[in-house]
Amino acid sequence: MPYRRVLLKLSGEALMGEQSYGIDTSVIQRIAAEIAGVVAQGTEMAVVVGGGNIFRGLKGAAAGMDRATADYVGMLATVMNAMALQDALERMEVPCRVQTAIAMQEVAEPYIRRRAMRHLEKGRVVIFGGGCGNPFFTTDTTAALRAAEIGAQVVFKATKVDGVYNKDPACFRDAVRYDRLSFQEVLRGELAVMDGTAIALCKDNGIPIVVFNLFEAGNIARAIAGEPVGTAVHPELVPH
Ligand code: UDP
Repeated sequence: MPYRRVLLKLSGEALMGEQSYGIDTSVIQRIAAEIAGVVAQGTEMAVVVGGGNIFRGLKGAAAGMDRATADYVGMLATVMNAMALQDALERMEVPCRVQTAIAMQEVAEPYIRRRAMRHLEKGRVVIFGGGCGNPFFTTDTTAALRAAEIGAQVVFKATKVDGVYNKDPACFRDAVRYDRLSFQEVLRGELAVMDGTAIALCKDNGIPIVVFNLFEAGNIARAIAGEPVGTAVHPELVPH
């Protein structure tokens, strides 16, 4: 396997499936089954979950809420998703720990980098909840940060779209999907891979990003096997 330790970023929106809000348990179960499969093959898997299916700080701020307070609400939303995923994994007998960036020790461990790495070495899935614990950040940035901290070899961004396009494929029929991109190309084209802070962190730490569709069964395993899924963003310029 090309990757021994992987950081999987699951967007909150992906967890709501076809619903307009909240958690679709059948979607979570399917994701858990895919994670169980790759962990059984020996891949160390850390997960960062988003919270957009429940609450987004920017939306709260637009409705008149204090931005920092709204972001804290968003971070708490990610913990709910983390716990739902943990539950699904444990029901499949996959050992799993949730670590939160905001301490809430009655429900999860606090984020302790070395402990997280030890869990991974022992074959446990580690789910990071609460983002990075700071307002004005995103769970994409958290994914890049935690990946660098724990020495993950790649960030998998699993979303509702099947990669990165030159323009929004939902609005433009002639939108073209990229198979491979360099970080320079992403930054130059302001392409919607992850937010700028997350891209900068991955670029500076030489961590590739693979963006793929979570709803295509088997995509997590394919990405781990190094098969082409979605769009791969590489640290150095790769000839197309
Ligand atoms: N958030 C934050 N700091 C972080 C991570 C998340 O303030 O480090 C808040 C922010 O308000 C964000 C919300 O949590 O809107 C949910 O996270 P995000 O939007 O990244 O989730 P996703 O888009 O992946 O569903």
